[in-house]
Amino acid sequence: MSAISDRLKNVSISASAAMTQRARELAANGIKVISLSSGEPDFPTPAHAIEAAHVAALAGDTKYPPMDGTPALKAAIIRKFKRDNNLDYDASQIVVSGGGKQVIFNAMLATCNPGDEVVIPTPSWVSYADIVKFAGGVPVAVPCHEQTGFKLRPEDLEAAITPRTKWLFLNFPNNPTGAACSRAEMASIAEVMLRHPNVWIMTDDIYEHLVYDDFQFCTIAEVEPRLYERVLTMNGVSKAYAMTGWRLGFCAGPKELISAVSNVNGQNGGGIATLTQAAATAALDGPQDLLKERAAIYKERRDFVLDRLSEVEGLRCHRPDGAFYLYPNMSGLIGKTSKGGRKIETDVDFVMALVDEHHVATVQGAAYGMSPFFRISYATSMEKLGEGCARIAQFCRDMC
Ligand code: PMP
Repeated sequence: MSAISDRLKNVSISASAAMTQRARELAANGIKVISLSSGEPDFPTPAHAIEAAHVAALAGDTKYPPMDGTPALKAAIIRKFKRDNNLDYDASQIVVSGGGKQVIFNAMLATCNPGDEVVIPTPSWVSYADIVKFAGGVPVAVPCHEQTGFKLRPEDLEAAITPRTKWLFLNFPNNPTGAACSRAEMASIAEVMLRHPNVWIMTDDIYEHLVYDDFQFCTIAEVEPRLYERVLTMNGVSKAYAMTGWRLGFCAGPKELISAVSNVNGQNGGGIATLTQAAATAALDGPQDLLKERAAIYKERRDFVLDRLSEVEGLRCHRPDGAFYLYPNMSGLIGKTSKGGRKIETDVDFVMALVDEHHVATVQGAAYGMSPFFRISYATSMEKLGEGCARIAQFCRDMC
């Protein structure tokens, strides 16, 4: 008899983690790999956040935390939602978890009944569909096409909603395309949702602060206050404050939903490390200038990589407004053969040949539910981006 639950059998391991692993293996063999596969800021955690954790540790703040978040952190989160999103929440409407990922996991476990459908604009972050399946739900992909900037069109959303729909997920700026959503576009999504009063909305705003060229981020509960009672607004410190390793995310929403999410949270981990909570409080309450400074650097990198890719025959790349990803279309190379003799039929063939022959790690579009594309993360130095782009260009040029 297998030790593995049926629930787990449908769940795959993250493709970006698998590629990062492949890059590490090559690196362990002394090969210089340019890793453009990981969705992780290369900046350090702000010193004042590290300092706050240090101070908390020395002050003896090392006991079990409250399950749903310390009062100080919840207060900082309430201030954050007001300051950045003009949203009002009180402490009973907030839960703190081990990263945005755990927030979503807990929310789905708290709410999905078997067969409940979760509408996921696609391409989408690899974990959404797996988390939904884990919780017994059914992921339903709504395609967001390259021709329309990978945006969610209201008519496609409308067509995806059925009587079984429990949730709509929103993630703009998006992983993996970088597509963001203007206020007018968000209002038209909201209009659809007003017609479906039984559907909840989970908005993953983790890339909120990563928008470029004066693009204005917005979030659905603020754009359409009539949806406030049905929206779970998720955010975290990983991407904005370069705190991926601290593991802290949070969400806010209507009391009843939050209390259910909090219930799962209490069983699933039992609260987040006190030192992490102290650091996150300092990050949220501290100087915010670094967000704009870092966004300016990401923008330069985005433009640099876009310029380089535009010179590569066979690739075509949409210019996104946010996040730190590019999602080039590689259909122009399908049917070709790499210099190392690999036939390129799919985006999986492309990224595997690229990492093996030119040692650049990227992630296949298939992992995000839309082919033939691949994802480049530009959350790395200009030097690595320059080298990575040169290798990609060479790889493509050498195909015949
Ligand atoms: N949502 C999206 C869209 C992401 O890309 C990621 C990280 N790759 C997360 C959530 C999870 O972030 P965290 O580190 O807070 O778990």
